[in-house]
Amino acid sequence: MTDSQPADSQLPRLLAGLHERLRKIPDGAVASYIPALAAMPPDLFGLALQTSQGLLVEAGESRHPFTIQSVSKPFTYALALDLLGRDRVRAAVGVQPMAEAFNALVLEPGRNRPFNPMVNAGAIAVAGILRDALGANAFDRVLATFSAAAGRALTLDQAVYRSEVETGERNRALAHLLRAAGVFHVPAEQAVDLYFRQCSIQVTACDLAAMGATLAGVGTNPATRSEVFGVEAVRDTLSVMLTCGLYDGAGDWVCRVGVPAKSGVGGGLVAVVNRLMGIGMFSPPLDQAGNPLRALLACEGLAEELGLHLFEASNPGSRLLPLLAG
Ligand code: GLN
Repeated sequence: MTDSQPADSQLPRLLAGLHERLRKIPDGAVASYIPALAAMPPDLFGLALQTSQGLLVEAGESRHPFTIQSVSKPFTYALALDLLGRDRVRAAVGVQPMAEAFNALVLEPGRNRPFNPMVNAGAIAVAGILRDALGANAFDRVLATFSAAAGRALTLDQAVYRSEVETGERNRALAHLLRAAGVFHVPAEQAVDLYFRQCSIQVTACDLAAMGATLAGVGTNPATRSEVFGVEAVRDTLSVMLTCGLYDGAGDWVCRVGVPAKSGVGGGLVAVVNRLMGIGMFSPPLDQAGNPLRALLACEGLAEELGLHLFEASNPGSRLLPLLAG
């Protein structure tokens, strides 16, 4: 990157370059175990970032809607931490990375709780305690929170929701396991229904960039200034995103990119550069671990270009700051 161009042309050029370089990569497979997801064209590829000043930069299909899927998990976790406090939440779900697949039927040995809130078991535990606390209004509260983080009113994709309900036996099994373990008290069906709904919220890469920017802004959306999450909830959430957000690909991700992130089987990915910006990406083909492949590569490219890794020799993002100053 050269320093002679203003921020409003350098960042778009960087994203457009990554889009052009990576869009033809043929690897990965669109998720089909939820039948409604299989229809997504594999060549869609959207990139967006929103800075802590509210500047939105985008490339490719950054406004194409898709379902948030597991990218919902950090945001319900943050909501639960805000509403119920760390002790209640920690009793229901741990903060340990797990070496198994995201939908594994396992609990932390000897603890009767899921390993972490970024895998299905943990997210269903969080849904269960939110449903315990909020009753039938729980989904409205989740949708309002996600909308505030995105800075616009989001909606539910009914077709994907129905498809999850029809085929989500494994998630139902997890919900029953968790209820039997006493993690939450509502019927298992109510907990897993909230989980299916939160996963079926429709977003774009721009929305994920804004939601990431809200976490980067310690809970405040940089464009609307709406205070969505508290400081402590954000700190715990970013911590588990860093260690567990990319499932069993998490260790590799931290070495290569080095910022908290979360992926989803709908092809979405959010990454957070603390205090500086949110990154939102969308690319349906997934790698073996269930992470959107081109989005991972694009984040790696961004991190390299802008010096985003937490343990950069200089301060993380130091190459971004001059661009933002213009
Ligand atoms: N709704 C999906 C499921 O439960 C979410 C999984 C994901 O995005 N990794 O299987």
